[in-house]
Amino acid sequence: MKAIVVGSGAGGATVARKLQSNGFNVNILEAGSPFKPFTRNISWSEPLRRWGLLGGEGNFRHLFPHMNMVHSSADLLLVRGLTTGGSTVLSCGNIVRTHRGLEEIGLDLTPEFQKLEDELSPEPFPHERWRPLTSEMYHVAEDMGLNPHPTPKAVDPHLCVSCGLCEVGCQRGARWDSRRFLKQATRKGATLHTNCKVEKVILEGNTVKGVEVNHQGKKKSLKADLVVLSAGGIGTPHILRNSGLEIENRLWADIVLTLGGVTPGARQLEEPPMVWYTEHKDYILSPYLDILSHFFHKPWRKVSVKDRVGLMVKLADTENGSVYEDGAVEKHLTEHDVERFDEAISLAKEVMVSAGVSEPLVKGMYNGGHLGGTVPLEKEDVPFMKPSWLPDGLWVADLSLAPRSQGMPTILLTAALALRVVREITRQYEKR
Ligand SMILES: Cc1cc2nc3c(=O)[nH]c(=O)nc-3n(C[C@H](O)[C@H](O)[C@H](O)COP(=O)(O)OP(=O)(O)OC[C@H]3O[C@@H](n4cnc5c(N)ncnc54)[C@H](O)[C@@H]3O)c2cc1C
Repeated sequence: MKAIVVGSGAGGATVARKLQSNGFNVNILEAGSPFKPFTRNISWSEPLRRWGLLGGEGNFRHLFPHMNMVHSSADLLLVRGLTTGGSTVLSCGNIVRTHRGLEEIGLDLTPEFQKLEDELSPEPFPHERWRPLTSEMYHVAEDMGLNPHPTPKAVDPHLCVSCGLCEVGCQRGARWDSRRFLKQATRKGATLHTNCKVEKVILEGNTVKGVEVNHQGKKKSLKADLVVLSAGGIGTPHILRNSGLEIENRLWADIVLTLGGVTPGARQLEEPPMVWYTEHKDYILSPYLDILSHFFHKPWRKVSVKDRVGLMVKLADTENGSVYEDGAVEKHLTEHDVERFDEAISLAKEVMVSAGVSEPLVKGMYNGGHLGGTVPLEKEDVPFMKPSWLPDGLWVADLSLAPRSQGMPTILLTAALALRVVREITRQYEKR
């Protein structure tokens, strides 16, 4: 049975590995090129940054093309990885269970979460390697009754050199990313095609027959018995729209806003991001030096990297974004999102000030990198793990399936959804 898997991130790599071991003949089609971490020393950029000569964040793509950034509105930047490993190669390595909105649709992913945790063995980053100010903010959060927890991470502390630059790729291979699953899939016989962008699915009536791709500038049709779209919360709906299928305008992004303060010599970048977090109804707080804001946000320019301290708010935002046929994305913060941020930011401010961080405390850029919700599962879809309107032979296995924003790390959820989708695919094809 010939299967095409589109994308090689948290969803795609998980699906490809499992389908190939279940006896399918898998071709993985990846739009991006093979991932290479950003290896240039960034100290040269500091004077340029201070004088505002780096320009906007759009210029970063010339140095690091794997990170794709689009403005979905004037004040919101969406970030994703377009490369082998998808957005997991940009991740902070946080591996946390999250299930907002799943109980409502009757989906319990406990067995998949357990299986993945057994394999990835997430552990907190050793306390003794946290920066002193990060520990101080943790103790303040404890004293304030915010119940902070060390973040489980798929980061090997023996390999990690605390460069703080997880989000431009781990040079040491200390942090897990989905290329490990991809490698196992190809070892088992799956084939990976990079620079191969899927444009649409080929349909005959209500049955999928393959995909049309743009492979290194050449258009081709590739046939398959089944196609799994794992191109992420923007890529998957773009392909569906291009194929004449309707999707929901419910994109969410778990929007991040970091409050930046100043502590001389804090050197917060000398630890992995987000080593602890506090969990609230619809957001988390976590120590984080937001490198996008540091480099490209004008109000953050005056403070040097060694003195900058950040505390992030990651919000479960309103599911209101749209992806169009031409790939354009539209999403804005709602009044509700802004109110929730106001509450969270004042809490972040209290933690920072009590820990001795100096003013001015300045907000960073709104950005979101957990892209989901565009092909949401409903209650009646859960037994088949696919929305009923998807044609025969066409599946989705990425964060697009998650109906609600999480305000929490989403790799584990994406991979767990993907495992459940494979279970269903395998069950259905065994019956044929
Ligand atoms: C900077 C950053 C840091 C993050 N940190 C964490 C973290 O620490 N912990 C955590 O749990 N989550 C984190 N996340 C979120 C997490 O990485 C994503 O939610 C998760 O990877 C989503 O998986 P996915 O399969 O839906 O999409 P992705 O992992 O983005 O994979 C999509 C894949 O599809 C490919 N693709 C797209 N369009 C096409 C096309 N037309 N044809 C072929 N291929 C295509 C892409 O190149 C990519 O390989 C982070 C995200 C970002 C951006």
